[in-house]
Order: sequence, then structure tokens, then C-alpha cells
Amino acid sequence: MWQTVCNSKNQTGHHGIVPSSSQTHKHSLTLNTLHRLRSDHNRLNAYISRIDMDTDPLCRHGCQDIENANHILTTCEKYTNKYLPIKKFFQDNNLNWCSSNILGLNFTLSKSLQLLIRDQLVQFIFNTKIYLIV
Ligand SMILES: [Zn+2]
Repeated sequence: MWQTVCNSKNQTGHHGIVPSSSQTHKHSLTLNTLHRLRSDHNRLNAYISRIDMDTDPLCRHGCQDIENANHILTTCEKYTNKYLPIKKFFQDNNLNWCSSNILGLNFTLSKSLQLLIRDQLVQFIFNTKIYLIV
């Protein structure tokens, strides 16, 4: 779906504009991070511990919870304050606070709402620098 969003954006306004290399970098970093979060194939402990028996699947920040995309996006104590803007948006729009809504995996939500959520998520990804651990 993210790919579709990109394509439609190119058709409606950004066509022909060559982004600077830092914008391109940020864009691909965003897409890669979103993909890794959505697929749950990433560098988080839940996944790594399946391959490497020495890795503890629990959160690296000390939470007694499995470190997966759902944990990082919704309940990790390290990001409690960083969740606030997205949580406020979810409350205002009567959305359940769950990773499938945050990651755009709930296809019953309107496309315009999903785009707004995606913007919030991208802000979160860069505010927290979770692209470094996902
Ligand atoms: Zn945690």
C-alpha cells in the first residue's frame, strides 16, 4: 500500500521534481522501516531470538514484554511520551490503539485516515530514531 501512496503522490504534484539526496535517503529509510515493522521481519529481539538462541526476546529497554513491532509501537516504556501525539490523534478519531491501525494494516479505515496515521507514524519513527533498531 505504501508503494501505491507514493505513486499517486508522484502523479498529483511531485512529478518531475528531483528530491535532494537527503530527502531520498529519508524516504527510503522510512519505507524500509515501515516494511520491517509491518512484516515483523526485522532486527527486534522477538525476531532475532528465533534465529539466535542467545538473544533474549524481551525488550532491550527493560520492559517485561517481548520486543516486537507491536511492543515498540504501542507499549514500550521508553517511548511513553513519544506516543502522546499519535495517541491523541487516535482518541480524536475513535481509533483503537493497536499496531495494525498504526501500521496501516486495517483496511477498513478510509484511505485519507490511513494517510494521516502514516504521517504521524513517520514523525514517530524519526523522533524516536527507531529505524536504528528495527
Ligand atoms: Zn520496551
